Amino acid sequence: EYFFKIVMIGDSGVGKSCLLTRYAEDEFNESYTATIGVDFRSKILTVDNNFVKLQIWDTAGQERFKAITTTYYRNSDAIILVFDKNSHDSFRHINDWMKEINDHGFENVVKMMIGNKVDLGNDVSKEEAEDKARSFGIEYVETSAKNSYQVDLAFINIARQLIKE
Ligand code: GDP
Ligand code: MG
Repeated sequence: EYFFKIVMIGDSGVGKSCLLTRYAEDEFNESYTATIGVDFRSKILTVDNNFVKLQIWDTAGQERFKAITTTYYRNSDAIILVFDKNSHDSFRHINDWMKEINDHGFENVVKMMIGNKVDLGNDVSKEEAEDKARSFGIEYVETSAKNSYQVDLAFINIARQLIKE
């Protein structure tokens, strides 16, 4: 039986809250502000016959003001860095988020990169995203919170990595 804390980070608007809502509740709502009011959601799953409880934390929008504190990352077993496949800015900013995480002292935490909103388009190519992930030595998964594409897969993969740790 395993328990893992996972935190999500990335630019405002990339779809962090929608990914979490999709994963935890299998819902997507275009118009509702998923960010407000929720600190984390829990999800129980079995991975390779292991019983796993994930506690997945979402920001309350602090990323917009670059006001993420050390407290947010504390005790996390994994950090998921999210960008929008249709926003080169959000993709470039992954470097800044990675630096910020390392500056806070969490360089040894397991990380994954997610390129979200593949249903909308692919301005940032899969190849350049994979290159960046490889340079950081982390896994990369492309998702759509809107149509559920690979959302479960992303969380299962990170749980599997954490079990192996
Ligand atoms: P956050 O600021 O990173 O938490 O982003 P949100 O989850 O609040 O999403 C920002 C906007 O992107 C909302 O209007 C969502 O409806 C939209 N969105 C999120 N994920 C997807 C996706 O996979 N596909 C599409 N088409 N839109 C998405
Ligand atoms: Mg949000």
